[in-house]
Order: sequence, then structure tokens, then C-alpha cells
Amino acid sequence: MLHRPESLGEAVGLLTGDADIKPLAGGASLVAMLNARLVEPSALVSLARVKELQGSNELPDRTLRLGAMMRHRELAERTTLTGPQRVLQRAARAIANPTIRAMGTIGGSIALADPGADYPPALVALSAAIELVGSAGTRLVRAVDFFVDWYTTVLAPDELVTAIHLQPVGAGAGVYHKLARVAGDFAIASVAVVLLDGGRARAVIGACGPRPLSLAEADAELARGNVAAAGAMLAEAADPVDDSRASANYRRRVIPRMLARAFVEASEQMHSS
Ligand SMILES: Cc1cc2nc3c(=O)[nH]c(=O)nc-3n(C[C@H](O)[C@H](O)[C@H](O)COP(=O)(O)OP(=O)(O)OC[C@H]3O[C@@H](n4cnc5c(N)ncnc54)[C@H](O)[C@@H]3O)c2cc1C
Repeated sequence: MLHRPESLGEAVGLLTGDADIKPLAGGASLVAMLNARLVEPSALVSLARVKELQGSNELPDRTLRLGAMMRHRELAERTTLTGPQRVLQRAARAIANPTIRAMGTIGGSIALADPGADYPPALVALSAAIELVGSAGTRLVRAVDFFVDWYTTVLAPDELVTAIHLQPVGAGAGVYHKLARVAGDFAIASVAVVLLDGGRARAVIGACGPRPLSLAEADAELARGNVAAAGAMLAEAADPVDDSRASANYRRRVIPRMLARAFVEASEQMHSS
């Protein structure tokens, strides 16, 4: 059965009390999972008409609020993402192909929490917050705390991702690099680098463990320009697996080089802006 609520309250009401019911956003991943019988929900709640999840707006403190139903294509084409926030645009552009980018949503992507997905490292690098609404009310969770394990987040069964909050970060640079077997595939490894005014730096590794990897010590080394030291720390801390895309050993070995390249590009972006 497919429910088509028009308000957030109605959608949360449908999810409450039935742990087997599932929200349907763009359907890019969920429809494939249904076809393969990887999930067998009691019913689906389409989020397509829920107005609170659409579009974007600026909050009074200048935080940019991106609705959960924002498609990857819209983020990829968005010209108002500047400075460090460009890392998110770059991540959106790295997702799959034009068809998937036209279907998939940022809320659906992070709710699924595929460890090879492109948004999670970018959101952690930007210190983004995830807005969640459920029967117990609204909460804001830092992206770094949102992703818990392989395909696991802090979302409760009756909660929806409703928006992404990007605090104003001022000038700086944001770069996302993805290594994949072929264009359009999920990442073998990825790196998001954000450089902020005042010399602060943040590097987050994707697809090399159950959740995005960042280390305060590595960021401190990066801020001092010790890119090799930062890369070595992140490679050491990574927890990759062998899969059809690459071996764990290969993933670990590409991290320092990917970080170095992304850092060079971010530094150039910083100086040219
Ligand atoms: C062929 C293919 C290639 C892909 N390649 C990439 C890639 O290179 N990089 C990448 O990052 N991703 C990739 N993806 C995944 C794609 O980005 C999906 O869009 C994304 O994972 C899910 O978004 P969706 O809006 O379609 O969600 P859906 O498929 O509708 O839902 C996904 C899951 O999230 C839940 N959900 C959806 N919205 C919410 C919400 N607001 N709150 C709570 N739960 C919610 C659903 O119940 C479901 O469990 C690929 C997918 C396919 C099919």
C-alpha cells in the first residue's frame, strides 16, 4: 500500500506505531531494494507531496536549510554554494549518473547511509547538522554523530530526515574527490577537504569503513600543511573492507595520495577566491 501524505505531521503519524512501514523519497535505492526483496515493508509513505521537505531557505542566523527532498541534480547545479560549501556541490556532482541524480534526494541518501555514498563525508567536513522529526518532536543531530555504522544511522523508525542545516562558514575552500572503477559507480574511496579562514582544515574519508572517517589530530596536521602526516594517520585509522570494488589494502593505500591531491586543489581554490 502506498500512502501519499501532504504534511509532515500526517507522514510522521503514518510511521508511528508501525516499525515495518517505510518512507519512500526518490525511490532510486528503495525501489531496487524492493524488487530484490531485500526489504519487505508493510506499506510505503511517499514523501513527494510533503511540502515541509521541499526547497531550501535561510534561517535568521543565516544557516542554509536544505529540504530532505532536494534532488541530487538540484544540488549539483546550485550556484549559490560558495567557499567551503562547494564540497557539497562537488559530492552531488559525483553521484551516479544524470538519471539517478534526477531521482535521488539528499534525505534518502543519508537515511540509507551507504558507506560508499558521496554526501556523508562532505556533510561531516562542513560540520552540517541533520534535522529529524518524529513522534517525539524535532531534533538536530551533528552529521558526525548521525552516521553510526554500516547502513545505520541514529534515525528512529518513526523519524524522518526533514532537512540539512549548513551553518554560515565564511570564506574558504571545499573539494571532494572520488575514486571509482568507472564514472557513475560508488566510490572505492573518497575524500572531502574543507579549508576555513583562520587556517582551520578538515579532511573526511569516505568508503573506507562503516562511517565517514575524520580525526582531530589529522586535521591539526593538515592545518599546519603536514599533509603526509595527516594522510598516514587517516590511512592507519581507516577500517576498510575487501569487496568487489577494491581490496581493503588498496583502499588504505590510496587515502594519503587522494588527500594530498584534494588538499592541493583546496589550497589553490583558497588562494584564487
Ligand atoms: C544505480 C545506482 C547508482 C548509484 N550511485 C551512487 C553514487 O555513486 N553515489 C551515491 O552517493 N549514491 C549513489 N546511489 C544512491 C542514490 O544516491 C540514491 O538516491 C540514494 O541512496 C537514495 O535516495 P532516494 O531519495 O532515492 O531514497 P529512496 O530510495 O526513496 O530511500 C532510500 C532509503 O531511505 C529511506 N528514506 C528516504 N527518505 C527518507 C527521509 N527523508 N527520512 C528517513 N528515511 C528516508 C527509505 O525508507 C529507504 O530506506 C546510486 C543508486 C543507484 C540505484
